[in-house]
Parts: sequence; C-alpha cells; structure tokens
Amino acid sequence: MKNVSHLLIGTSIACLLAVYSAHADEDSHGHSDHADEDSHGHSDHDGEKRQLDSHEHGVSTLKIAIEGQNVQMELESPGNDIVGFEHAPENDNQKADVESALSQLKNEAGVFIPSSEANCKIKENSAEFEIEEGDSETHSGFHVIWKMKCSNPSQFTNLETTFFQLFPKAKEIEVEIISESGQKAMEWESDTKKIKLPTSIK
Ligand SMILES: [Zn+2]
Repeated sequence: MKNVSHLLIGTSIACLLAVYSAHADEDSHGHSDHADEDSHGHSDHDGEKRQLDSHEHGVSTLKIAIEGQNVQMELESPGNDIVGFEHAPENDNQKADVESALSQLKNEAGVFIPSSEANCKIKENSAEFEIEEGDSETHSGFHVIWKMKCSNPSQFTNLETTFFQLFPKAKEIEVEIISESGQKAMEWESDTKKIKLPTSIK
C-alpha cells in the first residue's frame, strides 16, 4: 500500500468538516478496497441529518489541539472498527468486548504516543461508547479524549500508535492538528506505525 501518511490535504478545516458529512466522496482516494464500507448505507446523499452515522467504517478521526504545553487528543472511531458491531451490547460477550475496548483505549500508557522528547504526560482521559439509533439504521462509536501536558511541546514532532494493532478493523485515521501556527490535516494509514507531524506545527 502506498504510504500517504505525510500527505497533507491542502484544505482549511472548515472545508474538511464539510467533506466529513459527505464521506462517501472519500472513496475516490482509494478506500474502495474496503468492500464492507458501503454496506451500511454511508454512500447515500439523501440529505438527512447525520451525526454518528456520517462516519465511514474503517475510518477514525483524531483531532489534536496543541496550545502551549497543553495538548488534547480526541478520537472518534466507528464501533464497527473497535468491537465489530454498532448496536447496544446484546449479551455478556459483547458487553465484555465493549468494556475491554474502553479499558484498552483508556490505558495509562496511551494509544497515541508523542515523541518522548516532548515529555508529555496524560493528565486526564475519558472513553465512551456512544450509540445513535436512526430511523433506518443504528451506528455507534467510541469517543476518547486524552488531555496531556507536554513540558517540551516544540519537540512534539511525531506520533506513534498501537491503535491499528489493537483494532485491526481500523484502516485509517483522519488526523486534524490545530495549533497556534495553524491547522493541518493528514491521513494516517494502518500500515504506518508512526507519523511525523508537519514541521509548521510547533
Ligand atoms: Zn457505522
């Protein structure tokens, strides 16, 4: 697979968010090899209001906000990618799967690990499994927030993850980085363990 982790999408965040609600367009970027993505009706453009069900299976989003020494990372992943289903847990096994995923996501070591030179420590984190029942289909997602303090934020030059190993159904993360020097978007493919942050983000 082509390594596109350093590919910068030259759009403003506003534009990126507009694209987010019409996610099926992303197929033109080579996601069409994930055959199951369209099976849940994400490709229709019927204009109905969508929140969680606007997600594309296989694709998570990670927002990283850097403000001085404070770094917040926010992950949203389809339930499909994490536990393989998107309804409320129906039996003990599925309850255990959700609990186990939440505890993996909240693990103290962190799922997304900034360069050690940045000296980041997790101050607070939360993980939730959110279910959204629509008229015709139900979607769910995992929502995780990490709040960190980095004593050397200028050394936050790369980010490593165990996410794709923990959750092999996840194929890609759309990364959005916001700092005082601007906003950048990147695509993080599952065959890449570590990404370089854009040099302009300091
Ligand atoms: Zn879904």
